[in-house]
Amino acid sequence: MKEKLQSIKDEALKAIEAADAPEKLNDVRVKFLGKKGELTAVLKSMKDVAPQERPKVGQLVNETRASIEKVLEESKKKMERAIREEKMKQEVIDVTLPAKKNMVGHRHPNTIALEEVERIFVGMGYEVVEGPEVEYDLYNFEKLNIPDGHPAKDEQDTFYINKDIVLRTQTSPVQARVMEQGKLPIRMIAPGRVFRSDEVDATHSPSFHQIEGLVIDKNISFADLKGTLEVFAKELFGPETKTKFRPHHFPFTEPSAEVDVTCFKCGGKGCRFCKGSGWIEILGCGMVHPHVLEMCGIDPEEYTGFAFGVGLERIALLKYEIDDMRLLYENDIRFLKQF
Ligand SMILES: [Zn+2]
Repeated sequence: MKEKLQSIKDEALKAIEAADAPEKLNDVRVKFLGKKGELTAVLKSMKDVAPQERPKVGQLVNETRASIEKVLEESKKKMERAIREEKMKQEVIDVTLPAKKNMVGHRHPNTIALEEVERIFVGMGYEVVEGPEVEYDLYNFEKLNIPDGHPAKDEQDTFYINKDIVLRTQTSPVQARVMEQGKLPIRMIAPGRVFRSDEVDATHSPSFHQIEGLVIDKNISFADLKGTLEVFAKELFGPETKTKFRPHHFPFTEPSAEVDVTCFKCGGKGCRFCKGSGWIEILGCGMVHPHVLEMCGIDPEEYTGFAFGVGLERIALLKYEIDDMRLLYENDIRFLKQF
């Protein structure tokens, strides 16, 4: 019996050595250790062994099984490692090869101008707030002191979805929405797309962008407004820039003003760019009308504030000396590549 086991073991080890693929190893396992394998056959013949010999033989069979299994397992691991190494050799990557260059686009001049304006105001502690482009007439006009029949409604006639809903003509409704929430003080800018039923020409488009600013707090005065916009103009157009406030009228502010800055091209001497005046108009502003505060649930006796609105395209056109607004929307790569 002992010899028989030894010969099974030798045979098995030979077969393992000869195996050159994991499947062959599996065949060996089945042949020697499987249910119908040779070791199992030995166990089945135990009944021919004298009873006192049986434990000894049983132990021998187990030892033989264990040693075959061990060698099988080792061979399997070795084989797998060799396969893996071979595979890695085939897949080797040459890190010194030049990388493929991806075509990466860049930001649109409008986006660059917007990020610049945001950077300036965020630096002064303002929050950037966005609102819906499809807006209730109530927020777009009514709450901003532009009731039905007000002439200002004609000036910025828009696209009506129905009697109560419009494509917003300005980003000011975002201010009304924020004021209504009643969290004071407020220091925010609201950038976004707005719509007017304008014909397309060099300075008009039915869709363009505005950035509105709003500050509401106790003791906010016109001096705060002037100081803030002066910092803004200097940051945007250079430290030499001067500002000029011209009285104007807007329904939602009182007093209101339009703001000019000294021409950054000629420094105020007068040139073709500023049409000889030395000044360039950049935005409208004013102290928030007490009636607007009231309509948005803020007590005008306790709080005051200022607001301003600037056209994003206007900033981009000025900054890059572009003379036709349509260029910003045509998406001509040859034009956009320049910025
Ligand atoms: Zn000029």
